[in-house]
Amino acid sequence: MGGLHKGHSKLIETAQKTERERAPVVLVSVFVNPLQFSPTEDFNNYPRDLDKDCNLATASGASALWAPSVEDIFPNGPDSHIRVHAPKNLQANLCGVNRKGHFDGVATVMSRLLAIIKPNLVFLGEKDWQQLIIIRHLIKDLGLSIGINTIGTVRDQDGLAYSSRNSLLKAAEREKAILLPQLLKKAYSSSLQKEEVDISKINAELNNNGLRVEYLETVDPFTLQLVKPNKRPCLLATAIKCGETRLIDHTFLIARKPIIAIDGPAGAGKSSVTKAVASKLSLLYLDTGAMYRAVTWLIKKNNISHKDESSIRLIVKDLKIEFQTSQSNDQQVMVNNYNITEEIRSPEITNLVSQIASIGAVREALTAQQRNMGKLGGLIAEGRDIGSSVFPDADVKFYLTASPKERAKRRALDLNNRGFSVLNIQQLEKEILERDMLDSNRKISPLKKAKDSIEVITDGMDIDQVINLLIKLFYTRVPKEVWPKD
Ligand code: C5P
Repeated sequence: MGGLHKGHSKLIETAQKTERERAPVVLVSVFVNPLQFSPTEDFNNYPRDLDKDCNLATASGASALWAPSVEDIFPNGPDSHIRVHAPKNLQANLCGVNRKGHFDGVATVMSRLLAIIKPNLVFLGEKDWQQLIIIRHLIKDLGLSIGINTIGTVRDQDGLAYSSRNSLLKAAEREKAILLPQLLKKAYSSSLQKEEVDISKINAELNNNGLRVEYLETVDPFTLQLVKPNKRPCLLATAIKCGETRLIDHTFLIARKPIIAIDGPAGAGKSSVTKAVASKLSLLYLDTGAMYRAVTWLIKKNNISHKDESSIRLIVKDLKIEFQTSQSNDQQVMVNNYNITEEIRSPEITNLVSQIASIGAVREALTAQQRNMGKLGGLIAEGRDIGSSVFPDADVKFYLTASPKERAKRRALDLNNRGFSVLNIQQLEKEILERDMLDSNRKISPLKKAKDSIEVITDGMDIDQVINLLIKLFYTRVPKEVWPKD
């Protein structure tokens, strides 16, 4: 809407830095949309300075700035164009309550802008979170093949979120306004410390300091429905009036850093994809298959029969599996200070591991270790039961799969690279299907797609395509503000 500031600069810079094939031209649109202002709101007073906007856009790397008139967007006037209604549920709370028709106006103008520009990617700030969620729905529901990239809220040095309306604040008002980000930041820290966040106390503190609270609510970040303040994650969002200026801001209340769960059958390419996503998103990489392989290795080394449950129970009770990073940045699997990284990948171990993994005592011990590693979050775990059993509250769950033929091909390549010879690819496919069968039919936490898991069938996709897709989907469930790593 113009009145460009540093938040917009960051958006433009981010777009400019995106690979050229995905964003060949960075177009900045400036349009103060009359449809999203009610008659009592500040349409006439909204900050406009096109020369300043042009300078800022150019300096930030925009290819062009487009500032259409109302006639350009609605040639015969808004009443002769299709109107789009934002979903009722998404405007039942937050700004939707007092700004009736606002999000319908946003949705209508966005559908016009997208139809005219036909972008392949749009860059939006998370500052207007409710608007972002509605635009995501708009693009999905209209079946548009347009990607969305976001950036977290950009703040000034005093913590105030950049907003075009900040220029309307008088100096004394601005001093008062900074209490808002301070209180939100404190609430965020309290949530991470697992302390209670007292919404009514924040409300009172704002009001007592001359900031009139229009709303201060906790909602589910994606459905935008009201939730109790102790629900994690949740969005704590507010609109206040500071003098005559309306400001909105928010924070996310989270119990821990994000967790990604990746499940799927053998040979679906989970390990390579998980490793790459872990490195791109600075997440800890947890290969739970390696843990089941480590137990199998130990059982074999001690000549224990896989039927001897009591000896197995004893062996896993005190077992400590450690992951270390080698100098070449590869993950090493250590058991009792012994490096078993390569040995656990042998066909011998591979053919026995599913039987060992079906033993209750083994699953119990390893699940407990895995949960302990994920206590603070900031982790991506791959396996068979991560989304369904180990981390049922993971922020994003993927079920990665491919046809058995494709999986056998990939496994053969992997074995070759590790120096094992593969004589018969049909035999490999048979073994993979046997392992699928054992993993999917065991009694305790079998391999299955968790109901809230996103299935990704990777036949015909190269590894980079899978990695990019997973990262893109991750950021539809985790705000950049919470995890600004890519
Ligand atoms: O993924 P990877 O092939 O290394 O896994 C080896 C085996 O470990 C699987 O076939 C399965 O039997 C077992 N496993 C499991 N649960 C997990 C991870 C692996 O049962 N979370």
